Amino acid sequence: MRLDVVTIFPEYLEPLGVSLVGKARAAGLLDVRVHDLRGWTRDRHHTVDDTPYGGGPGMVMKPEPWGEALDSVLGSGPSGAQEPPVLVVPTPSGRAFTQEVAHELAAKPWLIFTPARYEGIDRRVVDDYGERFDVRELSIGDYVLAGGEAPVLVMVEAIARLLPGVLGNAESHRDDSFAPGPMAGLLEGPVYTKPPEWRGRSVPEVLVSGHHGRIARWRRDEALRRTSGTRPDLIEGGDPAAFDKHDRAT
Ligand code: SAM
Repeated sequence: MRLDVVTIFPEYLEPLGVSLVGKARAAGLLDVRVHDLRGWTRDRHHTVDDTPYGGGPGMVMKPEPWGEALDSVLGSGPSGAQEPPVLVVPTPSGRAFTQEVAHELAAKPWLIFTPARYEGIDRRVVDDYGERFDVRELSIGDYVLAGGEAPVLVMVEAIARLLPGVLGNAESHRDDSFAPGPMAGLLEGPVYTKPPEWRGRSVPEVLVSGHHGRIARWRRDEALRRTSGTRPDLIEGGDPAAFDKHDRAT
């Protein structure tokens, strides 16, 4: 998968060289290219923002450098019949970036991220590219950050760990919170490791029983308990068919 990020703070994306994403890059599973938006400015001050039409506080990112940057990045793609890239525009006013969206984006060959600063990017940029490309305006949560670089780090990490070969054990994300599959719609329950006793607290007996059926049932019960405690909306909005008869309280 190829990932391009256009930003005025390329150094903010340095964590993409570390840990899981860094290893995926080193293994050739991810081709990450970070570009400095100011490289596409034409004035001596490398200006990327200007005052908003209509007045009001703050500044707005100018459309010209974004247009030149995106045209240039788009033009650097492989020629031929490859699926066109998806443009990912982080914004608090976008649709929620969920695990489902992460799965959808993980299936694409090429993503281009446009993290903004100030009050965001002149609207005409999204409108223009939206006519020719799949443009996703995505929010990582109901709060406002100073810029889109941290949201890009969040999204890239969530997407990268879903790519085949990135996690050591391909099964690792099967039981994750929000994952599709056997535990769909549920948060993951508590996890334990050695030693079997720590500060007088024991690991639940069932986990050391070696009884796979009982362990699976316990994990599902704990997932149900945790989900109904912290995110009852997930249970209420869940697909009734996804709950089996053992899930109902007796
Ligand atoms: N005035 C904008 C609003 O209220 O929607 C917020 C602009 S914010 C200060 C600057 C940039 O940070 C945004 O354009 C976006 O790229 C990024 N950003 C901030 N919060 C975000 C969030 N929750 N999800 C995704 N991107 C976010």
